[in-house]
Amino acid sequence: MPLLIKNGRIITATDDYKADIYCADETITRIEKSIDAKRLPKSTEVVNAAGKYVFPGFIDPHVHIYLPFMGTFSADDYESASKAALAGGTTTFIEMICPGPKDDPWEAYQLWRSQAKKKAAVDYTYHMSIVRFEPKVRAQFAKIVKDGVPSFKVFLAYKGALDLSDEHLFAAMTQAKSLGAIVTAHCENAEAIDAMQKQLLAAGKTGPEYHGVSRPPVVEASGVHHLCSFASLTGAHVYTVHTSCEDSVQEALNARYRGVDVWIESVAPHLVLDESFAALPDFEGAKYVMSPPLRAKHHQNVLWNGLRSRAISTVGTDHAPFTPKQKEMGKDAFTRIPNGIPSIQERVDLLHTYGVMRGRLSLNAMVDAGSTQAARIFGMYPKKGTIKIGSDADLVVYDPKAKGTFTKSDSYSKADYCAYDGWERLGRATVVTVRGQVQAKNGKFVGTIGRGQFIRREATHG
Ligand SMILES: [Zn+2]
Repeated sequence: MPLLIKNGRIITATDDYKADIYCADETITRIEKSIDAKRLPKSTEVVNAAGKYVFPGFIDPHVHIYLPFMGTFSADDYESASKAALAGGTTTFIEMICPGPKDDPWEAYQLWRSQAKKKAAVDYTYHMSIVRFEPKVRAQFAKIVKDGVPSFKVFLAYKGALDLSDEHLFAAMTQAKSLGAIVTAHCENAEAIDAMQKQLLAAGKTGPEYHGVSRPPVVEASGVHHLCSFASLTGAHVYTVHTSCEDSVQEALNARYRGVDVWIESVAPHLVLDESFAALPDFEGAKYVMSPPLRAKHHQNVLWNGLRSRAISTVGTDHAPFTPKQKEMGKDAFTRIPNGIPSIQERVDLLHTYGVMRGRLSLNAMVDAGSTQAARIFGMYPKKGTIKIGSDADLVVYDPKAKGTFTKSDSYSKADYCAYDGWERLGRATVVTVRGQVQAKNGKFVGTIGRGQFIRREATHG
C-alpha cells in the first residue's frame, strides 16, 4: 500500500527540515515540501506527522535472540524480539551468531538463519562469531561473507568457552582483511577474569555484586589494546562492541590516532545504568549482570560525550533476554548467571529521554548513533540508516511530547522483567514502518510476522 507521511520534521544524521515523504511501494520515492494526497492513488495510507519528528528506522547493531547458554536458551524468539524492536522504533537489527567451539560454522550459520524464517517482522542480518579458526573451517567463513554477512565477532573473554587463541585471532583478522570483512570484538582479557573469578569464589564472594569486581575497566581496556595491536599488524578493520568505560574508549581513540581503523560501539545499559544496580539486594542484582559489567557512574559522561562528539559511533543494546528464573542458575556463583540486560524495546526512548532531553545529545547525533553509523559501518547505507529517495521506507514518526514510564507490561520481550521499570520516558514512536508498511503504532505491534527480510550486505572493509 502506498504511504504518505505529511507535515513531519525530518531528522537525519545531518539534516533537519520539514517535508512530506511519499513511498509508492517499499522505498522512498518522493520527498517534497508539500505532496497533495488527492493526486496520489486512492489506496494511499496517510500519516499526519504534524508536531512530530520523522526519523530513519533505527538499527540495533548488537542483539542476541537465539542464544544457548550453559544448557539454557535466551527467552526471546524472532517474533517477540521483532515486536519489541518495532514497538520501540527499531526496524533493523544485527544478531550475533554464537556457536560453541565444536560447532561447524556453516551449520551454525544455517541454524541461526532458520530461527528467523517466518518469524521476523524487522529486517535483519548477522555478525558471525569465530570461536575457533582451524585451517579446515576457514573456507566456511569466506563462504559466509560471500553470502552477505561480511562481519565477524570474536571474543577475547570467556576462557575455555568462546575465547579465541592469539594464533587463531591473528589468522582470523588476516583473513577478514583479505575478505573486506570487519571484525567486531568483545574486548575483555579472559585469563585475568578467570583468575579473579576463582579468587572471589574461593573467598566466598559469590553474589552478583562481585561480577563487576571480577572484570574491572583495566581488563576491558587491555582487551581493546590487544585487539587494536593486532589490527595495526594485520590491517583488519575492527569494531569494539559494548565499550563500557573511559579506559577502553581512550585505548580505542589512541589506536585510531596511530592509524588503526577502529570503530566504537556503546550499548544502552551502560549509558544509563551504573554498578549500583548489580549490587541490589536479594539477588535482584542478577537482572543487571552483563559483560562488560555496569560501571561507576562517571563513565557514563564519557560515553555520552563520545556520542555527542561522534567519537563513539553507535549505540546498540547487547539485548540478551534471560528471565529472573534463569538468572537463578547463578544463585551460588555469579559466574553462572546468564549475562544480559534486555533493552531492545527501550533503546530509542532511552536515547531520547536521557540523551536528547537532558541536553547530552542533539537529535542529529541521536540518529547518527542509533541508525546511520550502523548502516554505514556494516554495509547497508543508504538502503538503511537515512531518509533519501531510493532508501528503504523504514521510518519512525516520533512524538517528543508523549510522556510515560517504561513498564514490564508494555514490554514484548519474554525476559519477564524490564530493567528500566518505572523510569520516566519522554517521547515515543507513534508510527513505525518497515519498507513502507506500518508495523507498529504507539508502542503496539500492528504488523505482519514473517515480513522481515534478511539483508545481504557488501564487504566494504578491504
Ligand atoms: Zn553481545
